Amino acid sequence: MNIIFHEAFYGVYAGDPAAAAGRMEPIIRELKKYPHYTFITPEPAGHEDLQRAHSDTHIKTIKGSPTLYNVAALAAGGAIKAAELAFAGEPSFGCIRPPGHHASGTSCWGFCFFNNMAVSLLKLMAQGKIQSAFILDFDLHRGDGNINILGDHEGIRILNPSSGNEKDYLLEIASVLEKAGDFDIIAASAGFDEYVDDWGGKLTTGAYREIGAMMKAFSEEYCQGRRYALLEGGYNYNDLGINIHAFCEGFR
Ligand SMILES: [Zn+2]
Repeated sequence: MNIIFHEAFYGVYAGDPAAAAGRMEPIIRELKKYPHYTFITPEPAGHEDLQRAHSDTHIKTIKGSPTLYNVAALAAGGAIKAAELAFAGEPSFGCIRPPGHHASGTSCWGFCFFNNMAVSLLKLMAQGKIQSAFILDFDLHRGDGNINILGDHEGIRILNPSSGNEKDYLLEIASVLEKAGDFDIIAASAGFDEYVDDWGGKLTTGAYREIGAMMKAFSEEYCQGRRYALLEGGYNYNDLGINIHAFCEGFR
């Protein structure tokens, strides 16, 4: 399974918890323990890629801080790489930052700047590779940027599960996927801040493994096996790598 990562993601580009020092290193240390992960280095997204999801004014605003722009464009490029590999039949996890699901077309908040998910899916659509996509956003927070940019798009379905405990949360995902039907690809906005020892306090490490496995099974039955995930939130730096690995164990 592919892990999309660039050493530039170690850099501290802002003062928010997603950009904090020491967040990415333990993830990579954990994933490097396992020989079945292939690490792939992305290229930055180009202006044309960003433009499919964002206004020129928004892109220009982010460009006002070159450090921020460079890493945000690289994260969006990492999302594109994950999507392209997934389309080619290789499950991929974009271990990227800044996250993207709170970035809308003309504005952003919540530690997000460019919408990595929208940039990646809209590129596959522009290339005529896909016409439909299912997005599972299991971050603690509702991905308003994903919804604002992609929610009205014909062929795109977004699920932000909202059940109050782990059992119901997993059942909610299972029951929606069971009735969803065919899609050209499935992608996750993979936030890990619903973890029991993170802000949300709800999901165990085993739940992430199960979510990964449900997505794999769905992709194999309804999406020709095409699946990828992009890192969003997750602020327990000690356990983030373990939870991402658990998700990938189910997903790969
Ligand atoms: Zn979050």
